Amino acid sequence: MSSTSTAHIAVHHENPQILKPRTVVKKVLAKQQQEGAGAIVRRSIGRPDLKTLDPFLLLDYATVSPPAGFPDHPHRAGFETVSYVLEGAITHEDFAGHKGTIGAGDLQWMTAGRGIIHSEMPAGDGVNKGLQLWVNLSSKDKMIEPNYQELQSKDINRVQKDGIDVRIIAGEAFGVRSPIYTRTPTMFLDFAMNPGSQLHQPITEGWNAFVYIIEGEGVFGHESSSTALSHHTLILSDGDGVKAWNKSRRSLRFLLIAGQPLNEPVVQYGPFVMNTLEEIEQAFEDYRLCKNGFEKARNWKRRA
Ligand code: FE
Repeated sequence: MSSTSTAHIAVHHENPQILKPRTVVKKVLAKQQQEGAGAIVRRSIGRPDLKTLDPFLLLDYATVSPPAGFPDHPHRAGFETVSYVLEGAITHEDFAGHKGTIGAGDLQWMTAGRGIIHSEMPAGDGVNKGLQLWVNLSSKDKMIEPNYQELQSKDINRVQKDGIDVRIIAGEAFGVRSPIYTRTPTMFLDFAMNPGSQLHQPITEGWNAFVYIIEGEGVFGHESSSTALSHHTLILSDGDGVKAWNKSRRSLRFLLIAGQPLNEPVVQYGPFVMNTLEEIEQAFEDYRLCKNGFEKARNWKRRA
């Protein structure tokens, strides 16, 4: 998988110094549950014992095979959905005519803003796997116009170094940045670590951070910490970075996600996320009456 040959890359820095290493303060297993229409989801952030991790509202690992999917549903405000496909492909279509297919390794960073109604359905006949993260927006950004940032797999910045292969979805790793603009400052890294490799990854102090293990097993925080297995979410303490070890005989793949907390009240009702109950009631009314951002819902129906 990852090449250890870095001869063509003129970067030869040591592992960055981590002076205040973060440790694992909570470990939660994302169990399977049903979502949408027949989809199977492992929810990590957003489950009852891990309601939110400011600014994150939800992280789902979804497995979808036709005819299952996520037919027409609304999102009002206050947040962004980050979709990252691991296997297969997902076709999306919204009420403003924005549509497309995101395939394995592709990224869609969607700002729902004042409102979007869309569908997310499998593109092919096989099994589709992907992750979706919900990033909350501050009150000043909740009612902005919807927006999309999309990156194909080949355009996602990637660094392979010392047995580590990282895809930089948002933020920075090994001195390489992602072009994605995050209104709520966010870091989103997809790491693969070869057996025996060790990682020192800086994380901005004060940001909330967690690890989601996709495959394999790893040790995080202290070298003597217990081993964490796939589909575990590890909440990290504060600090200036995290250390990780792959002490196993197989590849370890995980997401490292961190964000600047908003420290605002969160009132959530399904796909509506606002600051107050009044704003939630307003969102429902706007959705029902097709106004204030939902005008295009009036004549829209997704073609099956
Ligand atoms: Fe959606």
